[in-house]
Amino acid sequence: MDQQVTNLDRELRARALRVIPGAMWGHQNALRLPEGYPQYFTRTEGCRTWDSNGREYIDFICGWGPMILGYNDPDVEAAAVRQRSNGDCMNGPSERLVELAELVVETVPHADWAMFSKNGTDATTACITIARAGTGRRKVLLARGAYHGAIPWCTPSVAGVTEEDRAHLAYFEYNDAASLEALVEANKGDIAAIVVSAFRHDLGKDHELPTPEFARRARELADEANAALIVDDVRAGFRLDMGGSWEVVGVRPDLAAWSKAIANGHALAAVTGNDRFRDAATRIYTTGSFWTASVSMAAAIATIKKLRDTDGIGKMRTAGQRLRDGLEAQALRHGLKIRQTGPVQMPVILFDDDADRRLGNAFCLEALARGVYLHPTHTMFLSAAHTNADIDAALQATDEAFAAVARL
Ligand code: PMP
Repeated sequence: MDQQVTNLDRELRARALRVIPGAMWGHQNALRLPEGYPQYFTRTEGCRTWDSNGREYIDFICGWGPMILGYNDPDVEAAAVRQRSNGDCMNGPSERLVELAELVVETVPHADWAMFSKNGTDATTACITIARAGTGRRKVLLARGAYHGAIPWCTPSVAGVTEEDRAHLAYFEYNDAASLEALVEANKGDIAAIVVSAFRHDLGKDHELPTPEFARRARELADEANAALIVDDVRAGFRLDMGGSWEVVGVRPDLAAWSKAIANGHALAAVTGNDRFRDAATRIYTTGSFWTASVSMAAAIATIKKLRDTDGIGKMRTAGQRLRDGLEAQALRHGLKIRQTGPVQMPVILFDDDADRRLGNAFCLEALARGVYLHPTHTMFLSAAHTNADIDAALQATDEAFAAVARL
């Protein structure tokens, strides 16, 4: 590799700094990762990604979740290309819109209808707007620390945000029914919605599936208050259950927000809802220049059908379990204490006694140097394209990475 190529990432960052504030925004700013992570990428295929310096990685971030069947999945891309040759952004939607809504309603048990947009934030925001329109109430109860998007009502930053942007939001603890009960009591008569993530997947924290007791109680409390139960399935949608993530605990929301994986990397988000909120969803005004574009809808139709017909979730579970078991054995052998939490197909790996992230960061950097792209604090993602051979190759790298951490 010549010098010019190996320095492309550094060169692009320097150029970006002149024309892009901070060189990059949000969670994709590589400065939020341990130094040594690449900022720029040139290519993806299957479960692999190549950075701008030409280095290849087995990818466990999957474009932060959107890749679920494999990058450049041939069936999804064929559907996208076919649609693109006819039209994408037109004066209105194509037939794909109705086909996709029909498929989503058929796939997701709580859904009597679906609407589409582009980003997860579009979908979470629309859910809340629909809940308020449907109930005529103001208060939205949220789990403390949960991420729902990046506009003033929900962004983790306070810069540029006013108190008024977050008026009528109140916080309970995820999986703590008593804290939700108390919050419902305190806001009685004015509750529009209870919002829950698919599971607790807060940055840098152990991940936690919803307990059936908490999920059932959230449903009951929403019903008693005549409020909407909203599941934010943006991150987990189609990785836990094709019918929506709370199917695993047998609880159905009134509204759910989806994005990330639903079109295997094509830009699309969805709101699903039941008939109770159909009229409210009709009355709110929500739209976007690209929300009816057809290519991502064609991609979503192909993605959902392929995930369903090829047991995509089963494949992700198998790969995730193989990774988890391998890492567990390796950590033990190297005398390191790690916690692997979350569903196996959406893991987070944290080290014990590592408040300053010294061990976690070092582990991820050592893995990165050996061609495995992990994240030290964020939910990671398995895909249906991670084969046993890919997992085993990744485990070879992580074994060496653990050995290096053990020497620290
Ligand atoms: N909700 C959850 C649970 C998410 O993980 C995300 C994105 N990480 C969002 C909402 C916002 O989605 P987007 O970034 O596409 O707006």
